[in-house]
Amino acid sequence: MPIRGVLFDIDETLFDASGAQGVALAAHLRAEGLLERFANVDAAVELWQEVLDAEYERFLAGELTFVEQRRARARSFMARVGDSTPMSDEDATAWFGRFQSHRHALRVAFPDADPVLGRLKPAFRLGVVSNSELEHQRAKLEQIGLLHYFGDAMVCSQQHGEPKPAASIFHAGCAVIGLEPGEVAYVGDNYLLDGLGAKEAGLAAFWLDRARTGKAVDPGVRVIHSLDELPGALGECHRPAPASVPPGSAAQ
Ligand SMILES: [Mg+2]
Repeated sequence: MPIRGVLFDIDETLFDASGAQGVALAAHLRAEGLLERFANVDAAVELWQEVLDAEYERFLAGELTFVEQRRARARSFMARVGDSTPMSDEDATAWFGRFQSHRHALRVAFPDADPVLGRLKPAFRLGVVSNSELEHQRAKLEQIGLLHYFGDAMVCSQQHGEPKPAASIFHAGCAVIGLEPGEVAYVGDNYLLDGLGAKEAGLAAFWLDRARTGKAVDPGVRVIHSLDELPGALGECHRPAPASVPPGSAAQ
């Protein structure tokens, strides 16, 4: 079945989420008078990421709403830097909002995203499937100049009710672009959530391994290292995905 549509992950696939995170966090902590509590910016980023991972996991598990995970991150981060003063919901939201204002000023797409979406748009129906919240992601795509490629073809886990790798969220993405899973490719940077998840849901799965880890993958998951490789790789989709090659072994 020919591929007629392509669905994308957003963070670390189209949007360079971590690229400017340290700069934004340092600006925020400096403004809050907190930066001197860390040996260096890397130590602050490490703690920030640890808190993010823990609270975002609770969001994806349905324990917290998207807004609640932001407040939880503000409270947890402050507690971890030694400030145990209770934060009201309003205070926690405002604290996170001040971080966001630094973060938003630095939002940027990966350089390969816009050119490749432009090349694909005439031939494919495009959409996004993201483990996040719809308005947050819509605003992000608009700011980085990519929203016009997708319009309303966006599915986010908070509104959908289940995160990737659940098959249902991939199928919801196919439905919003009016195609069957077998007609749709999915592209994302997370091997388990995006690559294996999309493959298990019956889509043509592309794992974007920007770091070129060389990791061995399931034979049903295709690997690309840049979005520039995607248009060519989509043309190969009618053929079986190549068998994975273990790291370090020479291709025969
Ligand atoms: Mg991602």
